[in-house]
Amino acid sequence: LHGQVVSVNPFTEQEVGSYALLAKNSIDRKLDQADVAFKQWRKTALDERIALIKRVATQLAENKQGLATFITIEMGKPINQAKAEIDKCIALCDYYCKNAHQFLRAKPISSNLKNSRVEFQPLGVILGVMPWNFPFWQVFRFAIPTLLAGNTVVVKHASNVFGCAEAIAKTFNQACPENTYIHLPVSSDLIPEVIAHNAVRAVSLTGSEKAGREVAQQAGHHLKKVVLELGGSDPYVVLKDADISKAAERCATSRLINNGQSCIGAKRFIVESAVARQFEELLAEHICKAKMGDPLNKSTELGPLARQDLLENLHCQVLESTSRGAEIVCGGEIPVGKGFFYEATVLTNVAKDSPAYNEELFGPVAAVIPVLDEDEAMQVANETSFGLGSAIFTADSNKAEQFAANVEAGACVINDFVRSTPELPFGGIKNSGFGRELSEFGIHEFVNIKTIAG
Ligand code: NDP
Repeated sequence: LHGQVVSVNPFTEQEVGSYALLAKNSIDRKLDQADVAFKQWRKTALDERIALIKRVATQLAENKQGLATFITIEMGKPINQAKAEIDKCIALCDYYCKNAHQFLRAKPISSNLKNSRVEFQPLGVILGVMPWNFPFWQVFRFAIPTLLAGNTVVVKHASNVFGCAEAIAKTFNQACPENTYIHLPVSSDLIPEVIAHNAVRAVSLTGSEKAGREVAQQAGHHLKKVVLELGGSDPYVVLKDADISKAAERCATSRLINNGQSCIGAKRFIVESAVARQFEELLAEHICKAKMGDPLNKSTELGPLARQDLLENLHCQVLESTSRGAEIVCGGEIPVGKGFFYEATVLTNVAKDSPAYNEELFGPVAAVIPVLDEDEAMQVANETSFGLGSAIFTADSNKAEQFAANVEAGACVINDFVRSTPELPFGGIKNSGFGRELSEFGIHEFVNIKTIAG
């Protein structure tokens, strides 16, 4: 063994579980087992794989209440959102089970060779390095298409949600053949060894830019494919002709989802100055009325952040931003009492050189940036190292389409907030990563697109 990690309930600050970490030789054994399982799994008929994934979905449905409670206890999201996360995983299974044949069927392509076509073949063992913020959804989003394509998966989950990690592994193991899904309880310093292992053919990571850079570097060294879904600081542009009240409501909802800890949460609100005051007042009204409290209580809308270090980091980003000129419209404090809570906060007049302008704020803090006109709005929207989601609020569909065409992001939604859904590709550009998850594009990330002719 290689030490252990503990899970802490972010609401009570009590330890809820302690988990042993694997040492190097046990890791090698598990990866070998995943490789042996792959040799069988790739030969299993697609209909059979689909039937097994349907059993996974059934397990989720049968255990929804218990699994959702586990999510809330380990990372603090409100229980209704935890249940919705399990429902979303079930919908994802349904979507890929319905569409797998169509996505993985050989596609004839006419060329100057006879009978030319592409086939989609599995690659082998695929490593997933996964975060805590949607501890089920992120894993399922990676594992379901990857498994249906005929690969086996090993998952290194975030060390603060190993209880969820074990519950996910149990769900797969009850439905699928042994070792098609393996939970790898390892510390991140052993990930280079995992990536180096011969059986591992590719890596998918969702998490911070820092972790993404390190994993991509190791994968690059071993010439293994990598898909990265990193952070974002999504720009939400509000033009003066927009329905400001609706815009403020949509923006507040997106900013508070998952206690503010979503990679595609609305983060920078770039507002034409003619309506900036009105917008920030309405936004503050929505944000500050969110009911903060015990996330297991059904009426709670805002729970604690997942870990103390995340809370401290967020508060430092807010303090640094105010010291550089941002004004607090509401919030901005760590409330007294138990739990890693942060007050729902609206900052305005956020300056260019501040963390709220340049970094990802992973918590319930909205950064309002007033701009002169739509040209400046476009420029500020793209003035970021990230490029995940984006949105624009306007009554003018031409302006909206122009923004959508020019914004540097993996997604743009008009007059609403960005959310992920199984049918649509999901991923970023710039420092938000590369590759796509979900949809037909997602299932083709970890396959050998083989050309066959003759
Ligand atoms: P991390 O990126 O550190 O964690 C995500 C996953 O990566 C975890 O499984 C973690 O393991 C693993 N990991 C971390 N470093 C390495 C490494 N060098 N090699 C291999 N695996 C690694 O995120 P944090 O939890 O520390 O959160 C920090 C910030 O990251 C957040 O404030 C937010 O800005 C961003 N983030 C973005 C997410 C998104 O959805 N895009 C999700 C989570 C975080 P372990 O837990 O053992 O360290």
